[in-house]
Amino acid sequence: MRIGQGVDVHPVEPGRDCWIAGLYWPGVDGCAGHSDGDVASHALCDALLSAAGLGDLGAVFGTGDPRWSGAHGADLLAEARRRIEAAGFRVGNAVVQVVGNAPRIGTRREEAQRVLGDAAGGPVSVSGTTSDGLGLTGRGEGVAAIASALLLPLADG
Ligand code: MG
Repeated sequence: MRIGQGVDVHPVEPGRDCWIAGLYWPGVDGCAGHSDGDVASHALCDALLSAAGLGDLGAVFGTGDPRWSGAHGADLLAEARRRIEAAGFRVGNAVVQVVGNAPRIGTRREEAQRVLGDAAGGPVSVSGTTSDGLGLTGRGEGVAAIASALLLPLADG
C-alpha cells in the first residue's frame, strides 16, 4: 500500500465559470488557472501521483503544454489514474476536502463523489469546509483543497 497527499489553491476570478470537484457550479465565480481551476481534482491528482512516486501535477501536466489548457479536472484525474495504473497501482480510496466560501460542496456531494470516483477508478470521498472568514479562502479571494489517497497494487484485484 502507498499513501499520497496533495494540496492546491487557486485565486477566484469573478465571472469565470466555476468547476470544482468535477462539477460545474452555475452562479458561482470560478477559479483562475491554466486549466479549469478545479482545485479538488488537482489536489487529488497530486495525491495519486505522489503515492505512486510519479512526481507532481506540475511535472505531468505542465502549464506550458497546450494539451491541458482549459482541461477539466476530472479529465486530468483520469489521466493521473492511467499513469498510476501503468505503474502497477489502483486507487484503494481517496479523500478531498475543499476549503472556501463557495461553492457549498455538501449540496452536491454524491454527484461530486460519483464523477471523481469514476475518474479515479476507486471511491473518492468529498467534503467541504470554510475557514471562518480567515485568510484568502475566508475573504473569498481563493479556494483551496487538500487530498489524500491510498493506492493498492493492481494485482490485488
Ligand atoms: Mg491547480
